[in-house]
Amino acid sequence: MTDGQGNTAGQQTVLLVEDSRLFTSVLSFRFQSELGLAVEHCGSLAAVQEVLKNRDRAFSLAMVDLNLPGSPRGEVLNLTLENDIPTVVFTGSFSPETRAEVMQRHVVDYVMKDNDLALEKAFAAVRQALENRKRRVLMVERETRDAAEVAQALRRMLFQVDEVTSGWDALAMLDKAAYHLVVCGEQLGDMSGAEFCRRARKQHPSNQLALIGLYPPEDRFNGLLFLRAGATDAVRLPIVPEEFQCRVTHHVDVLGQIQALRASAASDYLTGLYNRRFFYAEGPKIIHRGLKVGRHLSIGVLDIDHFKRLNDTYGHEIGDLVLVAVASKLKAEVENTGHLLCRLGGEEFGLMVVDLDAAEATAYFDELRRRLGTVKVVADEEELSITVSIGVAEISGFETFDNYINAADQFLYMAKHRGRNQVYSDYLMATESSRARRAAG
Ligand code: GH3
Ligand code: MG
Ligand code: MG
Repeated sequence: MTDGQGNTAGQQTVLLVEDSRLFTSVLSFRFQSELGLAVEHCGSLAAVQEVLKNRDRAFSLAMVDLNLPGSPRGEVLNLTLENDIPTVVFTGSFSPETRAEVMQRHVVDYVMKDNDLALEKAFAAVRQALENRKRRVLMVERETRDAAEVAQALRRMLFQVDEVTSGWDALAMLDKAAYHLVVCGEQLGDMSGAEFCRRARKQHPSNQLALIGLYPPEDRFNGLLFLRAGATDAVRLPIVPEEFQCRVTHHVDVLGQIQALRASAASDYLTGLYNRRFFYAEGPKIIHRGLKVGRHLSIGVLDIDHFKRLNDTYGHEIGDLVLVAVASKLKAEVENTGHLLCRLGGEEFGLMVVDLDAAEATAYFDELRRRLGTVKVVADEEELSITVSIGVAEISGFETFDNYINAADQFLYMAKHRGRNQVYSDYLMATESSRARRAAG
């Protein structure tokens, strides 16, 4: 089954048309190993014709060498474009005329082969094009020929492009969906482009959204108004498509790098779960919002039993494997629940659960404890399993986040004391003491 964008059972296929063995082997390897793509390789025009005639799957993208056997003047490009395959051109020889001709034919991008960075750039162009397909761009501009050319350049880069003419409509759309980039004209129906930028920036800072202003050629200071209003960049109309695409690529790349840094600062290096820092940053926000609307919330602290002994017996590396296995089981268990999971450190995990009352939360953690007991790790031909103890505290009033964690920690301590491999919570403590009172009275 394909979905029309070259996704076959989840895997995308790229058509690599190239006669150099070095380029072919390096690119195929990187496409497969780093991007998870399937690669169909052709070394001549005839091979491409054959593949396209008999193809049983769609291609997400083609990377095409302009000069190859049977195709001295780039005939192969006609073939991929006629078959509606977005194409990145890869070429050793590029005169200014060929360059203009190729750009006019609406290729996604082109990469020159004549330098040390060629392979890196070719790989980056393909990765970028495939990522662009998942990215949304909002175009806010009156309907003019110049605007149509901008929208076309963006679509050529494979972005999902939405177009509106009103500033207010655009602001509403930005609040509803996640956009990477807004491209905005100088005079919109209901406000100036600069005013739009100022309003957009209040909710969408420059480390989350790139904003490019378009201005007419008459006044060279018009771009300045955009930049002063918080735009990432300002571009004069009519655009030079190739330059515009380079600028867009650059801005989107920078945002991608910021996102990657943010994700890495929030994640635990061993298990890939959120780390303690993220838990302490996000947890209080969820609690604050939740308590205001009367949501049930509890925090659990999970700790692996006798983990030191396991380390001492099997070594630290096996200990790490166990931590990774426990983390991935936890991750699978909380997926799509709205609960917040992290590795607090060492062999301790934090889990904040939502929309479960105190009794349900205790039962939930007890079931989780039982399921963690089924995790198996093989070491020295032996199957290892672990148990965990869990302390659970209900969150019922506004306190510091540390207080909630400390309370859960106290219950964890009691669970350990009572023999490990169990849950203890304020709910269980209250039930026990009322039972004891009844027994006594
Ligand atoms: P208890 O049942 O009381 O929790 O006993 P325990 O042995 O699990 O408790 P303790 O806190 O004394 O030991 C935790 C151990 O976890 C000590 C430390 O060496 C180990 N540890 C902490 N971080 C890591 C890690 O990243 N990898 C591995 N392999 N071990 C770790
Ligand atoms: Mg511990
Ligand atoms: Mg422990």
